[in-house]
Amino acid sequence: MSLPQSVDILIVGAGPTGLCLALALHKHNCTNVLVVDGVEQGENTSRAVAVHAATIEAFDTIGCAEDILQAARKISATAMRSKRGRIETATFGPLAKYTKFPFMIAIPQHVTEQILGKAVQDRNIRVLRPHRVARVQPSAENPSLTDVIFEDGQVVQARVVVGADGSHSTIRENAKIGWADPDGEPTDEKDNRLMQMIIADVILENPPDWPLENINLAVSTDNIVLLVALPGQPYPHISADQLVYRIATGIPASWGPPPHAPDSEYLQKILDAWGPNVVLGPDAPRIVVKQTAWSSRFRTRSSIADTFFARLPTGIGSDGEPLREGGPIVLIGDAAHIHPPMGGQGMNLGIRDSVKLGPVLVEFLRTAPAGPIATRAQRELVDAPLRQWAEERRGRALTVIRFVKQLGKSMTLPNERRWLLGIVPFNPAWLRDTFLGFMCRFTWWRAHAAWQISGLGNP
Ligand SMILES: Cc1cc2nc3c(=O)[nH]c(=O)nc-3n(C[C@H](O)[C@H](O)[C@H](O)COP(=O)(O)OP(=O)(O)OC[C@H]3O[C@@H](n4cnc5c(N)ncnc54)[C@H](O)[C@@H]3O)c2cc1C
Repeated sequence: MSLPQSVDILIVGAGPTGLCLALALHKHNCTNVLVVDGVEQGENTSRAVAVHAATIEAFDTIGCAEDILQAARKISATAMRSKRGRIETATFGPLAKYTKFPFMIAIPQHVTEQILGKAVQDRNIRVLRPHRVARVQPSAENPSLTDVIFEDGQVVQARVVVGADGSHSTIRENAKIGWADPDGEPTDEKDNRLMQMIIADVILENPPDWPLENINLAVSTDNIVLLVALPGQPYPHISADQLVYRIATGIPASWGPPPHAPDSEYLQKILDAWGPNVVLGPDAPRIVVKQTAWSSRFRTRSSIADTFFARLPTGIGSDGEPLREGGPIVLIGDAAHIHPPMGGQGMNLGIRDSVKLGPVLVEFLRTAPAGPIATRAQRELVDAPLRQWAEERRGRALTVIRFVKQLGKSMTLPNERRWLLGIVPFNPAWLRDTFLGFMCRFTWWRAHAAWQISGLGNP
């Protein structure tokens, strides 16, 4: 299908963040919008399963919360399970003081995307695929506009280009926006157990009788394994009466790189080495991986774009830096920030970037002149709301990245004897467990943990 010659807003990427932005723009009566994606169909895999209260609120503002909730499983608490028993680490009920959604939900990402895709279709928003963007450049006739050039040679002129095109973003690269770990941390720490991870959706024989409305973390001496029951029938090839569980864990360097799509045998080794089988002990029936519906491996890292909004470079300035006098480029979702999956924050943050961006873009279109922008002062004036949005969202992403890093560090504390001042022995993992075991007896502590995870304080 041929593409239109020009649009107000071109969203590159029809993942969850691109679709949410299209819905947010529609909500604000902005309709000259086009979403493009390089692939024929969205990915049919469950990737991000946790959706938090602040994100459900964002879905509510674009009219999707009800459908999402219907397809999801409500989660009332997170719990750590070790040989010593269960510690509830976060309780969501007390959030009722602050939100009408005092819970987390579990919903596979492809189900979320199907619901968003249908909402977009119902509203006649244009999503055209497969159309892969090759590059962007300032328009010759008016450099305040951007020519988006596709791999098949078609060109669309846009007033604003939004890069919702994932962590390897072509838009970010073309706009020459830097991308790095915010703390300059190296990405090859060999002893970090959560550096390489696997996730899988499986059917279990003898699953533990842990509450289905909990996110469970099985904690053994060397590792942790996440176990969450997915809602409904997440895969058409698996019958509705079979419960599918998400498992996720870190793979130590000594195991070598995990296979691209770990099979049931590999996943079984994990359950036996560190998972619920270790936690429940040899007297409990052995939990067996009966079937693997989907599995994947990935390496974890954190990166953030130098800015989430910039004008496209039109040349090089006298200071050797790009001269940014072209059209507005905005980054959202994984194109703007990525981090490890602990706490399930990534997709959530991206969706909230999009929903907050909708009204700001509408205001930009209303105030920005249609012709070339003559002076720097004029550009700064029309860009001010977008710049403010970008600074706020980048600050929120930094908060999440640091929270996730902290979570990762505390989860991977070594379970071995260390010496304080060379004379006092202590075991960091034991200290953590003892401290958590004590603090998690208090409702206010668990409610605070729920607040942090929910995103309500960092929407
Ligand atoms: C294996 C795996 C497991 C994950 N697990 C979790 C998890 O447990 N918890 C969690 O929170 N997150 C997880 N994530 C991350 C989560 O999936 C992302 O945060 C989320 O998909 C980001 O959405 P997005 O819309 O920003 O980008 P994406 O979902 O990456 O969508 C980008 C879209 O842009 C399109 N595109 C890219 N380049 C172009 C181009 N040049 N032209 C046109 N279209 C283009 C792509 O085809 C794609 O559809 C996981 C990711 C992976 C890969």
